Amino acid sequence: MHVHVNAAESVDGKLSTREREQVAISGPEDFDRMDALRADADGVMVGVGTVLADDPSLTVKDAERRDQREIEGRSPNPARVVADSRARTPVDAEILDDEAATYVLVSEAAEQAAIDGLEDAGGTVIVAGKDRVNLPGAFELLAAHDLDSLMVEGGGELIFSLFEARLVDRLTVNVGSTVIGGREAPTLADGEGFTDRDSFPELSLTGVERMDDGVLLSYDV
Ligand code: NAP
Repeated sequence: MHVHVNAAESVDGKLSTREREQVAISGPEDFDRMDALRADADGVMVGVGTVLADDPSLTVKDAERRDQREIEGRSPNPARVVADSRARTPVDAEILDDEAATYVLVSEAAEQAAIDGLEDAGGTVIVAGKDRVNLPGAFELLAAHDLDSLMVEGGGELIFSLFEARLVDRLTVNVGSTVIGGREAPTLADGEGFTDRDSFPELSLTGVERMDDGVLLSYDV
């Protein structure tokens, strides 16, 4: 699985406010770049925290990009993928609309009734892991559904786990020229955090570009 993490953060590294409300951190040029990344990917992934906070649809907004995907024999939109150990995704969430396929990755801790509800709502449920979604295992199962590339949009809990499991290939971050603050506000990588220098993922800076009123940083991992 090729995994590209893409996010927008404030200068102080926050993905949103302490109230976990979605905020526009970057501008139109960055939104368009993100739309192109979605259009390139087989799947667009978030954690259930983002589904509950933002209720995103994760679809490609530009009609020409959707048309181009169809010309290439692909579905107009990439699949949506959510990491959701206990199947907490609401059955009326936008990611379960009819615009694209949706894979809900759950663990063995998910209640069968919740799984049934998600499947009735059109989702495909994939079980991997005991109490929490086992990401490497889940990605192998996604590959069996012809998903070979994922663009991950967040949030900070999921992104940390992906780095911890050494699953990230590429990282792009748009640093918007604003300060959000708040010790409880989500950052690019939350989770437990790494404690020793040897375990910090090594990133290689491949690009620095001014975009809107911020800066786009690109890394290979
Ligand atoms: P998140 O990363 O979206 O989701 C975290 C949840 O995913 C966990 O609590 C966990 O819940 C589930 N999960 C399942 N398996 C996991 C695994 N192996 N590792 C980690 N998580 C796993 O939530 P978040 O960190 O709270 O971030 C949400 C915030 O980020 C929102 O405020 C949103 O607006 C913001 N956001 C910003 C951007 C941006 O680019 N600025 C992009 C996306 C989101 P269970 O244990 O119940 O499964």
